[in-house]
Amino acid sequence: MARIVQKFGGTSVADIDRIIRVSHKVKAELDRGHQVAVVVSAMAGATNKLIELCSSVSPLFDSREYDTVVATGEQVTAGLTAMALQKLGINARSWLGWQIPIRTDDVHAKARIMSIETEELERRLAAGEVPVISGFQGLSDRGRITTLGRGAGDLSAVAMAAALKADRCDIYTDVDGVYTTDPRIVSKARKLTKITYEEMLELASQGAKVLQTRSVELAMNHRVRIQVLSSFSDQPGSELPGTLVVDEGEIVEQEIVTGIAYSRDEAKVTLLQVADSPGVAAAIFGPLTDAAINVDMIVQNVAPDGKSTDMTFTVSKADLDRAVSVLEGARDQGQLSYHRIIADSNVVKLSVIGVGMRSHAGVAQRMFKALAEKGINIQVISTSEIKVSVLVAEDYTELALRALHTVYGLDSP
Ligand code: ASP
Ligand code: MG
Repeated sequence: MARIVQKFGGTSVADIDRIIRVSHKVKAELDRGHQVAVVVSAMAGATNKLIELCSSVSPLFDSREYDTVVATGEQVTAGLTAMALQKLGINARSWLGWQIPIRTDDVHAKARIMSIETEELERRLAAGEVPVISGFQGLSDRGRITTLGRGAGDLSAVAMAAALKADRCDIYTDVDGVYTTDPRIVSKARKLTKITYEEMLELASQGAKVLQTRSVELAMNHRVRIQVLSSFSDQPGSELPGTLVVDEGEIVEQEIVTGIAYSRDEAKVTLLQVADSPGVAAAIFGPLTDAAINVDMIVQNVAPDGKSTDMTFTVSKADLDRAVSVLEGARDQGQLSYHRIIADSNVVKLSVIGVGMRSHAGVAQRMFKALAEKGINIQVISTSEIKVSVLVAEDYTELALRALHTVYGLDSP
């Protein structure tokens, strides 16, 4: 007998038919003799609607009241799912964050989980009851309802799995697993049977939207085995139809490159002819940090005049205009000097990811060569131990992804 946490995302509980489907997924695990705790998201679109309601009262709403409002989406689905389970003769009940309680800090709208009370849940699981837990929400030490940030239903599920020492955390979503790259762009993309935490973390933070990044971090720290799978398809007979996110040790045959991610959310800023002296980088990135603008890739070149330097970096597209005005402001106030600023949002970041890179040379070189053969210019490069990222013009996204997928031998036969 295993203990499994099953998490159903917004699309899996989008309407009553789907909630009934979900109840059968839960029953299937119970029929296999497992203990099951369920974590649910709000119905697809529900959270957005609740946020709109808050904004329509006041654009500067109180974040404590925002949490009171947006947490209700998960209350609805927890109740409905418990009812659907009861209809199948299963002993189920709903649990809201405050009832467990899932204790958080009081940073409303992006609270962090501090601890989870499990005694009562343990007792009921042992008695065969199925707790249906509202994801996304908790209770602050001031006694108020908190929420954990957008998409944090995954985080709630992984945290519950860690607290309950579950054997597995199954995350049901609208895709049936983690793919080598986006199958909507590369038709030869393959579903992975296993991927390491580190690779999944890089994939998630580099633009693949299957799992929330923080949830992967938490799973890695607590060694929670995650399975990503779809609640829409029925794969009779296979006990593990999705992708397992696990420790490196569980993966026998490791590919050098496991996956390729892309992010269209990047924008490039170039400062021409910045004085090349100590403190310039601090003078550029200090004001951006103060404005809470995250900088991702950075390159510094010698400018054509040989005396100054050109500085290029990327920010998220949403921050581009603000980044430019912050840097113009810094120049006007004499904190910084440069000749010209160029903003470019027609870029995409491509990242090849794989733990096998640690022990194999030449991975980056293959990427550069493949892109060169397609005539694609690389604008910025950055690397980490298990990742190589390049910035190229956005128009080349499809062409580049397909070329890289082939070069690293990831194409399905
Ligand atoms: N309902 C929340 C959201 O839409 C949490 C989640 O679904 O993961 O952000
Ligand atoms: Mg989600």
